[in-house]
Amino acid sequence: MVYLHSKDDDCMKILVTGGAGYIGSHTCVELLNAGFDLVIIDNFSNSKPEAVEAIKKITGKDFKFYEMDYLNRELLEKVFEENEISAVIHFAGYKAVGESVEKPMDYYINNVSGSLTLLNTMKKYGVKKLVFSSSATVYGWPEKIPLTEDCHVGGTTNPYGTTKFFIERILEDIYHSDSTWGIAILRYFNPIGAHESGLIGEDPQGIPNNLMPYITKVASNELEKLSIFGDDYDTKDGTGVRDYIHVVDLAKGHVLALNKLEKEKSGLFIYNLGTGNGYSVLDMVKTYERVNQVEVPYEIVGRRKGDIAICYADPTKAKEELGFIASKTLEDMCRDSYHFARKKNR
Ligand code: NAD
Ligand code: UDP
Repeated sequence: MVYLHSKDDDCMKILVTGGAGYIGSHTCVELLNAGFDLVIIDNFSNSKPEAVEAIKKITGKDFKFYEMDYLNRELLEKVFEENEISAVIHFAGYKAVGESVEKPMDYYINNVSGSLTLLNTMKKYGVKKLVFSSSATVYGWPEKIPLTEDCHVGGTTNPYGTTKFFIERILEDIYHSDSTWGIAILRYFNPIGAHESGLIGEDPQGIPNNLMPYITKVASNELEKLSIFGDDYDTKDGTGVRDYIHVVDLAKGHVLALNKLEKEKSGLFIYNLGTGNGYSVLDMVKTYERVNQVEVPYEIVGRRKGDIAICYADPTKAKEELGFIASKTLEDMCRDSYHFARKKNR
């Protein structure tokens, strides 16, 4: 991947919301390595201050950090007053599908109201460049596989997914009302893995909902066995198929999206960030066991409600327009996930 970032842009200051989180922290590393200046805000509702220190340690670079709730308009304005922000990458939000069904209000407030607060503040300070973390979940029940960006969106199956769909619509309406905005909506597929340093990675509290953190906890003897949700899907081995992408590749996609906004000046751009490869649950278990020389005991149980059989991206648009190529392999993803867990538990 080639970064277009030039010497003239060296002091471009990017505000990263949710920058201490899983994807945010990896993106901050890539942004700092690419020469951007950062301002990070996070309230640590789903992350720890250690991640902020780790970003500094990995990159050897410093940045401003504000521990704050991004819904606090007064504090947010202070951030814009104190820093000459050129663009925003917006990760902050809640992301647990099951919890969103239990607590929809929390999700609509934190994700949708929060985004509106942020967008309003950006408008007030004349900052009109945004990269937004969306998700393949906006496609709802996939119209076709592989998914292209022009596939139907909506029909989301849980409040979390609906917040992403709503925010996408809000961004489209804003752009249509004022075409001087530059907005990149990135629809992530299944980010997994960790930075090769083992200093940052995914560290969910309690029992994980997603496959990779669950496998990692089983491999680390923190959980007894993996429950595989169904082996009777119409897939090669009957288990669900997803498009797993290494979080460092995903992070690099954000740098490329920022470069695109810089180059084009304005526009609304939507990209799938995936690899285009589908792997089954059993592929994941077997690769994890082989690469890390560990055992991942499992049992087959019933299907998980709302699960689709197969979901993977057509990544052509991101490749052609951003130069985005996910170069890390499934082996890298499994190895780096385990490495991070081992380092954390030491
Ligand atoms: P994460 O929970 O690790 O990171 C989100 C960060 O935002 C956390 O550090 C959290 O403390 C912070 N945050 C939440 N609410 C906040 C608030 N009100 N004020 C300030 N900070 C706040 O999640 P992630 O996996 O890094 O995901 C980042 C973004 O990408 C989210 O918007 C998520 O919905 C989206 N996304 C994630 C995935 C995935 O599989 N991880 C897939 C698709 C989309
Ligand atoms: N999965 C599983 N056991 C688990 C968690 C997930 O079998 O404990 C399966 C799930 O049914 C799906 C795949 O793993 O086929 C990926 O699930 P994940 O929740 O990680 O991603 P999503 O379904 O949201 O794409």
